[in-house]
Amino acid sequence: MSLRTAVIGGGAAGFFLAVNLKEMMPTMDVTILERSPRVLAKVAMSGGGRCNCTNTFRQVSDLSAVYPRGHRLLKRLFKVFSPTDAYAWFERHGLPLTIQDDECVFPQAQDAQAVVGCFRTLARRYDVHVLTSHKVDSLRQLADYDFVAVTTGGSPTGQRLRWLADCGHEVEPPVPSLFSLTVGDEALHQLMGLVVADASVRLPATKLRADGPLLITHWGLSGPAILRLSSYGARQLADHDYRMPLSVGWVALSETDVHDALQMAVVRDAQRQLSTCNPLGLQQRLWNYLADRALGERSHLRWSELGKKDLNRLTNILTNDTYQTHGRAPFKDEFVTCGGVSLRAVSATTLESRHVPRLYFAGEVLDIDGITGGFNFQAAWTTAYVAASSIAEAAKR
Ligand SMILES: Cc1cc2nc3c(=O)[nH]c(=O)nc-3n(C[C@H](O)[C@H](O)[C@H](O)COP(=O)(O)OP(=O)(O)OC[C@H]3O[C@@H](n4cnc5c(N)ncnc54)[C@H](O)[C@@H]3O)c2cc1C
Repeated sequence: MSLRTAVIGGGAAGFFLAVNLKEMMPTMDVTILERSPRVLAKVAMSGGGRCNCTNTFRQVSDLSAVYPRGHRLLKRLFKVFSPTDAYAWFERHGLPLTIQDDECVFPQAQDAQAVVGCFRTLARRYDVHVLTSHKVDSLRQLADYDFVAVTTGGSPTGQRLRWLADCGHEVEPPVPSLFSLTVGDEALHQLMGLVVADASVRLPATKLRADGPLLITHWGLSGPAILRLSSYGARQLADHDYRMPLSVGWVALSETDVHDALQMAVVRDAQRQLSTCNPLGLQQRLWNYLADRALGERSHLRWSELGKKDLNRLTNILTNDTYQTHGRAPFKDEFVTCGGVSLRAVSATTLESRHVPRLYFAGEVLDIDGITGGFNFQAAWTTAYVAASSIAEAAKR
């Protein structure tokens, strides 16, 4: 009789694991047990419907910058199944890919359904059984299987990890990552839709900082810089109920350079009004808002009328403008979970549980998560591939 593997969770990692396991060991009987009526739901809505399925990693020199949690383990596992391997895997399996200028990788079809279709086709071809509306929350339900892979994804509450904790697995309390922040500043909200290409954002209470495009929304701040900061500071922000001071650098220049540029304006544009002459090339609406924020009524003066204190205040607002965040913004972004089954609970080479033999983990259920850019799916492909190889190896013994 053939050996049987149960894959718990029909998402990205679950399908990747099941298909690879069948390729490595065609005689293995593989069943995916999915809680909801629909498989691959997150893949289908990922990347704004286009599925940013991986990244070339060509702009990544330090994995900890893109994986705040799990970078050490992934560094090791990428030697077994790298982003390049993932790229080649998809192309080999009938999903042509394309690389954007920002190094993000998407299906050439620019449609997440192409990825869903690829997995569905392969699962059918390899006779992977898929049981939907099948929730698993106890190992007892899995007594008929020789191997079990847990690929249940991120979990917004620790409750969903209870059954895994009950059999000894250490769990890092789950909290959200990759979200926007609300800021209660009406004047800022008026700038909704404005994008600052080269901003920097910091949580001054920590050493955390992120650079990149910043988007002003009708509730506060968003865009790649904020999402990245929310990932780096996911736990600290949760600990403070998402109420922390947030510092914004509106220009990609040092304090000294900004101060020098303002002083030059005092000489060059002495007779012009501050509000009509914007020496740093900021968008006019933003410049007016920041000048007003720094100087109030005095922002209507001429450059020559500004004193040393005014220039210092303006410099400070441009490079280190501080707001108080009021919470996480309404859920609109990509969203992943920081936390999950602790990496201490698994073998770093096989991803087998250290507590329950023949039980393996892959995907976001583990305490691994990345910033936006295809990094989260890559973590799912790599861990799923490694878990599949480990099961295939163990089955041969
Ligand atoms: C809106 C959105 C857009 C995203 N876009 C991108 C992107 O473009 N690029 C990127 O890299 N990442 C993206 N992500 C993140 C990415 O989707 C996840 O990191 C990835 O899906 C994780 O894969 P997974 O298989 O571990 O979990 P999932 O894909 O979440 O799959 C887990 C599956 O397990 C099932 N399950 C859970 N518990 C049980 C149980 N007890 N029994 C049975 N089944 C269970 C769930 O229903 C689910 O189907 C996005 C996330 C969101 C929310």
